[in-house]
Amino acid sequence: MITLTTLNARYFHASLGLRYLLANMGELEPVTTLREFIFSERPNDIVESLLRDQPRIIGLGVYIWNITETTQVVALLKQIRPDINIILGGPEVSYETGQQDIVRYADYVITGPGDLAFAALCRRILNGNSPGHKIIAAEYPPLQQLVLPYGHYNEQDIASRIIYVEASRGCPFKCEFCLSSLDKTAWPFEPDAFLDALDSLHQRGVRHFKFVDRTFNLNIKSSLHILEFFLERLDERLFLHFEIIPDHLPEALKAAIRRFPAGTLQFEIGIQTLNPEVQQLISRKQDVIKTLDNLQWLRNESGAHLHTDLIFGLPGESLDSFGDGFNQLIKLNPHEIQVGILKRLRGAPLARHDDAYRMRYSPYPPYSILQTSLVGFDDVQRMTRYARYWDLIGNSGRFGRGRALLLGDEPFERFLAFSDWVFQRTGKTHEISLSRLYDLAYQWLLQQDEDRHNAYDALAADYHASGARGLPEFMNNAAGSLQYSTGTEQKPANRQARRRQSKHGETGQ
Ligand code: SF4
Repeated sequence: MITLTTLNARYFHASLGLRYLLANMGELEPVTTLREFIFSERPNDIVESLLRDQPRIIGLGVYIWNITETTQVVALLKQIRPDINIILGGPEVSYETGQQDIVRYADYVITGPGDLAFAALCRRILNGNSPGHKIIAAEYPPLQQLVLPYGHYNEQDIASRIIYVEASRGCPFKCEFCLSSLDKTAWPFEPDAFLDALDSLHQRGVRHFKFVDRTFNLNIKSSLHILEFFLERLDERLFLHFEIIPDHLPEALKAAIRRFPAGTLQFEIGIQTLNPEVQQLISRKQDVIKTLDNLQWLRNESGAHLHTDLIFGLPGESLDSFGDGFNQLIKLNPHEIQVGILKRLRGAPLARHDDAYRMRYSPYPPYSILQTSLVGFDDVQRMTRYARYWDLIGNSGRFGRGRALLLGDEPFERFLAFSDWVFQRTGKTHEISLSRLYDLAYQWLLQQDEDRHNAYDALAADYHASGARGLPEFMNNAAGSLQYSTGTEQKPANRQARRRQSKHGETGQ
């Protein structure tokens, strides 16, 4: 009778939000079904599948990544079955409701947390007491009143999907680009009930836990409690992902982190900007010195995998100042630096800078920045490509030695030049095969007067270590020319290598 649904980005993302709604349906839980799709599925097929359950009410979770496709699904549903009550919820429809097509098609929109509000609205609709207005503003529920959702991860979820958990909600910080800055503070779930739920998941076989807490290391006592829980259950399959703030790592927390074997912990660390003026402008309180010290400690003294985030396009940030931040960060050698392009989140306070810093965003999701007073559209385009190539080369782990040559003493400037050159040569940021990437890196290094043998050794070693099949052109050609220079026959070696390559083909990216 009631269907809860959303369009996830990937199959292995299981929606925690929908499971909260389901767990808190009360007497309506037995007549509520959860259906998850992937946004690449065809809207008609999604609608067909939803209608099979013969729902009277459909609740949809709407996010920045699925708004386009979800709008199509809702529009189709309303064409075919206008009698079905459509209820929307999620951050993308919690603000600026008057400006969105999807809101026009829907019957109701719950703004704010829907954990209890969705069930309450369903009750009213089913009892014939529907609200006379479309927008329903939900209050933040006391977390102790919520039924925890973890029992709604089924065996298939546990076997093949990421299991999201949360020990707390909200954030006390005020970074203006982020919707969590609208929270008054952070609230913990009742610790014993939460640990019981974790224990039950662990006993059911879950070993990969992704914590969605905005700042896991906010309350050190509670962070330690959770880490101790996992230290008692260590095994080689355990993998824990936490988002942490980088300037708050007291000794007790460091001691606990140090006790985890390499590869068990992954920390997602929002750096966003290392420019103090930009930090101040966007109300981000971050101690740069402590941040860099703690990152260094984590990299050198712990076995944690460090995924760090930077944002390009913030007000007051220029290409050069972003580059300075990138260069400071890369010196600490985190495993990954994700270069994100600023996105406009509906409701985020950053909008107050739109006029003064001439912030212009795409009107299409995900509403990425197009230009600012300090960064033109050309540079945003360059940095969008930079982010993509950096993922393929800098973050992929496939260019261990080659990356150092590509970056030289001026990592940001050199990689930007490389990125511009790759785009000039290929006109592409996607569908570039791995072997082609190695070829491009080799050619560019030679153009920068890199020693041919150095470049060959580094990239050939990386290519072999990557496990890719076939051979890039540069390995054929360079092998040939090296053999030629030492007096061995060039042509047969090249022919043989080319045969090998044409037999195996290039590996996909
Ligand atoms: S960016 Fe992180 S620290 Fe800042 S408000 Fe958002 S969640 Fe909190």
